[in-house]
Amino acid sequence: MIPAKTLKLSLKSLREFAKKKLPDEELIALDERDECPLEIVRHMCSPDKLGIQLLFIPEEYGGLGGGAFDVYCICEGMARIDLGIATAVLATFLGSDPITVGATTEQKKLWLSRIAEEGLLFAYGATEPDAGSDLGALQTTADRVEEDGQVVGYRINGAKQWISNGGIAGAYSVLANTPAGPSWFIVERGAQGFAQGKPENKHGIRTSNTAALSFTDVYVDADRLIGGVEGQGLLQAQAVFGYTRLMVAAFGLGAGWAALDRAIPYSAKRIQAGSPLSEKQGYTHKLIVPNVARLEAGRASIEETAERIDAGEGSLNTEGAIAKYLSTEAGNLAADASIQALGGYGYTHEYMVEKISRDVRITTIYEGTSEIMEMTIARDRWQLHLKTRGRHYHDRARECEALEARHAGVGAGSVALAFHALAEAMERARVGRLTRFQHILLRLGEWIAWAEGAASLARRAARMAEGRLNEKASQRFDAEALAAISRIFAREAALKVGQEGLRWIAGAQAAEQDSEVAAWEAALNLSAIHRAQIGLIADMDFVADVLYGRAAKPVAHVA
Ligand SMILES: Cc1cc2nc3c(=O)[nH]c(=O)nc-3n(C[C@H](O)[C@H](O)[C@H](O)COP(=O)(O)OP(=O)(O)OC[C@H]3O[C@@H](n4cnc5c(N)ncnc54)[C@H](O)[C@@H]3O)c2cc1C
Repeated sequence: MIPAKTLKLSLKSLREFAKKKLPDEELIALDERDECPLEIVRHMCSPDKLGIQLLFIPEEYGGLGGGAFDVYCICEGMARIDLGIATAVLATFLGSDPITVGATTEQKKLWLSRIAEEGLLFAYGATEPDAGSDLGALQTTADRVEEDGQVVGYRINGAKQWISNGGIAGAYSVLANTPAGPSWFIVERGAQGFAQGKPENKHGIRTSNTAALSFTDVYVDADRLIGGVEGQGLLQAQAVFGYTRLMVAAFGLGAGWAALDRAIPYSAKRIQAGSPLSEKQGYTHKLIVPNVARLEAGRASIEETAERIDAGEGSLNTEGAIAKYLSTEAGNLAADASIQALGGYGYTHEYMVEKISRDVRITTIYEGTSEIMEMTIARDRWQLHLKTRGRHYHDRARECEALEARHAGVGAGSVALAFHALAEAMERARVGRLTRFQHILLRLGEWIAWAEGAASLARRAARMAEGRLNEKASQRFDAEALAAISRIFAREAALKVGQEGLRWIAGAQAAEQDSEVAAWEAALNLSAIHRAQIGLIADMDFVADVLYGRAAKPVAHVA
């Protein structure tokens, strides 16, 4: 783990560098030219300059040994500057992941030291033209080359698609099928038969280089097989999902806030109908405040997962998926709302929110799409529901009720309603065998993410009130403001689980059964969920006042 002081200094240097070298006009020009600024990327990765790569390399290989929380802070900081450049810089981290997780000591020494000492750029080559979400369908092959009965090397044939840094990296982690199954190989730029396509002309993150790769009889020595054992590739990829999804989650969070941080000051100055937009409730309560709540739920879920990974709880793939899903969906909504918040100006290049909105769009696609996240989350928690005979989310609800008893006003009461409703919706899905409808399975994934994200936010608000927040954590909101934000999100989460749960349980029935619908409404406790909405407008008024720096006293909350 990096000391908090060192991390703060790194983030400060990053911001100062960006201020000097990447002002808005430069970013807009790069975006219009569709250009990855290679010199800037190299500067950021050079050990004697910004050296961002050093943060992720273990200390024994010349790095600073940053943990998941550090990675989140850096990724958010990078995304606030430019998501394309963030992708270019962080692709090295992604590309070196199979090495960090699965390589032999000699391989780690060689490749991680080269990243640390030379600023070697890496790329991560998993996706193929016909294998995206379903990596098991991969067709790139690595055939053994044997001499005297010994495997001395491999011949790689195939193609990779949409590879970040594809055209600029010096080395590539490439997933290919060996006789014993998918395996990672390291292929250097310049290897015979290895070609990189021209940069893709993309919707967003145009400052990052994305290219296809092709392999025609590319020979690599046997020591380029990561870990030295064939067939470990998918396991090695999965072993870091919790971690890498947090990176993209932080991208969504950083880009979403970057957009709101333009919309908020803009609306304080823009006068329409005689007063600033920031004073109009129909504006702030639609375009600003709900997006703040969703982004902060994403943050709470990122921070909690990062702390648990750093505490040694393993890769936490499902929690990483929840953090990615919430933060990237929230980032997209926030950026889109920011265009609306700036009106016609928002629709032009000059005001940046349009670019941020195009950039952040990728975060719900790469490193696992939102639909794949929904599936991952639902499948994992479905097993918990079955294993505990339906108790899992009732137990989580009781924990929240206890939290609400200790910390009235952090939103945990509404989260408890969301968890109880979730447990009931899952039980009805079990009895009716509703997960045979894929749509219902994926919707479950969405409700689970919202309920668990709301719980993380309520816990974060409680910790903030107790002064126990991680010293590296964002302190943008004080305890009162965070509690109000948490109450807003928790109400929305409860409403989503209750109403959407009822909608799809009913929607899956072949014929309408009135008496059962009434029973489901009661089981999901919709009336309590509706009563929990009382006080919502007052909380939103308060959060708007906090955001716009208007003197405000905390409102009395409704538990
Ligand atoms: C700019 C950019 C940079 C990238 N960088 C990298 C990189 O560095 N390295 C790398 O390896 N890859 C990279 N990717 C690839 C990225 O990870 C994939 O695009 C992503 O995983 C989705 O795969 P796909 O594009 O094949 O879409 P598909 O898997 O074909 O999915 C298309 C749609 O169908 C949905 N879908 C898929 N399967 C299911 C299912 N079973 N049930 C329901 N819906 C489903 C998806 O959610 C999506 O909405 C990058 C992509 C882009 C665009």
